Amino acid sequence: MSYNGEAVATKLNDQMKTLPAAERIELISKQFPHAVFTTSLGEEDQAITGLIAKEKLAIEIATLHTGRLFPETVDLIKQTKIQLGIDIKEYHPLEADIANYTSEYGRDGFYYSVEGRHACCHIRKIKPLQNALSKADAWVVGLRREQSQNRSEVPFAEWSEDYNLMKFNPLADWTRADLTVFIEQNDIPINPLHAKGFPSIGCEPCTRAIKPGEHERAGRWWWENEEKRECGLHVKQ
Ligand code: SF4
Repeated sequence: MSYNGEAVATKLNDQMKTLPAAERIELISKQFPHAVFTTSLGEEDQAITGLIAKEKLAIEIATLHTGRLFPETVDLIKQTKIQLGIDIKEYHPLEADIANYTSEYGRDGFYYSVEGRHACCHIRKIKPLQNALSKADAWVVGLRREQSQNRSEVPFAEWSEDYNLMKFNPLADWTRADLTVFIEQNDIPINPLHAKGFPSIGCEPCTRAIKPGEHERAGRWWWENEEKRECGLHVKQ
């Protein structure tokens, strides 16, 4: 009988509704031998890394090192490895893709058109992500429903047709307060930029500090309309 990803996702989603986040992640590690967690080193992702490290769960931790990260984020990769005693595998864009992009759009071509921005995210994020997930049977991410309009209905488990695997959002129902308490209580290292008005941190040229009253992700690709502001990692293709 063929594998019915949608049906399995519905069952897992129901099962996870009543579990704390730590048990959701443990369940993933037990049921999926090739689970990969992709971290952007944001607070949500640092919390998940902390949960994986604490229980020494068999989940690969991977990050997309785009080549345009803030120096603070690069430092945090190193600090996290040392402090939490885990490995973080780095996936980089191809030199040839960067050269082609630069000749077609210019190094910072993402500012001038949505197409130019998507093309940059494609070579610096999507292709390395495809590489990171090439052997995975499950993909863990740190999306929370509160983060933005685009993320307001993310389930705990969903079948990804694009990557042909089960995708998990174990912190989907966490509030900002839940996250802050967890980080403080578990001494989780976080990016110093958060204290300077950056609740959501991506690549340096595409992230600005937010103003009081703005949404958490308002500083990401701020020059575009809100409904277009995802990099494609978590959008169905
Ligand atoms: S966030 Fe900006 S710099 Fe980073 S990959 Fe996307 S367009 Fe390129």
